[in-house]
Amino acid sequence: MIKLLLSSALFVVVSASSNSTKVYICDSENSVAYHYTKNCRGIKPCTHDVLEVTVVKAKEKGLRLCGWED
Ligand SMILES: [Zn+2]
Repeated sequence: MIKLLLSSALFVVVSASSNSTKVYICDSENSVAYHYTKNCRGIKPCTHDVLEVTVVKAKEKGLRLCGWED
């Protein structure tokens, strides 16, 4: 029983942290993707500010994971 409680608590922590994962986006109206690092080659051509946001926020903006990421 304790083991069950522990594993469900762990699950909550893991899913909460994946929702608040920080990603990087180009602050341009033309950007279509978010990135796990700001050194990604997908974000290098960005001529606007690079913003750090949560992955949830990026998805709300309609962005998808950059094609250069794993
Ligand atoms: Zn990228």
